[in-house]
Amino acid sequence: MKIDFHHPVDNLIDVLAFVKDVGTLDEFHRGNETKNRLRLLLADSENNEVECTLFDNCASDAYMAYLQNTESPVVVLLNLARVGFSEDGTPQVCSSFNATRALFNPSITEVQNLIQSAKDEKSPVMVALSQPTTSQLSQHLNGASLHNQTKVTISQIPEQAIGNSFVINCQIHKLETRHGWKYDGCSKCGSKADLDNPSSICPLCKKIPEKIEPKMRINYLVKDKTGSASVIFWDKLAVQLVKKTASELIHLLKKVTTYDNLCILAS
Ligand SMILES: [Zn+2]
Repeated sequence: MKIDFHHPVDNLIDVLAFVKDVGTLDEFHRGNETKNRLRLLLADSENNEVECTLFDNCASDAYMAYLQNTESPVVVLLNLARVGFSEDGTPQVCSSFNATRALFNPSITEVQNLIQSAKDEKSPVMVALSQPTTSQLSQHLNGASLHNQTKVTISQIPEQAIGNSFVINCQIHKLETRHGWKYDGCSKCGSKADLDNPSSICPLCKKIPEKIEPKMRINYLVKDKTGSASVIFWDKLAVQLVKKTASELIHLLKKVTTYDNLCILAS
């Protein structure tokens, strides 16, 4: 079937495909809103590729599900997706508002059959999937898939070079509260702001922050068999986890404390 602007597909579709590449969960701005976007490169068993863009909750849910999936090859089932078009008019698979769900390697026979048929026919996609990703998408998005990153134990962390990213597999032991849960940061990137020096440059944006606002941090004490470590989720990840921004939490807390004060006054 040939799909273009003049022959759109109006109904929602289910897509079952191999995941060749996954970008990072990135933010983009539409008006005053900040939205999430996740791009994937999908392929069928003949290695025909199609790009896929998921938005908002579907993007963040899909990214979390992707990170938790340990199976390979990675197969995605997109339930109720929509056919959209990229800027140059190429058809791509997109999420449709809140309808779309992305499931990675769900335990259904269709997934097993897809993997088995690709293996049986020595499909080019299996060769492509077993090689390190060098697709345009990964270069374009600069998004190293976590599946390809070095896995280390906690005791090996001090040996890692500064700036290198790696993955640890650990258990959350406790939430550390002694460092507080909020800090003042650059409104744009969340880097910690130097309040003593108002003309200080944001280390990430390389300019004086337009606005300083409350940002969230979550400290966990985590453990594995080899030791323990402190892990900090800075604002962006913390907000994804809590599903509220620092400003929203401060507002909520104020409400609660005012209510408590009123109760004390009343008693
Ligand atoms: Zn900044």
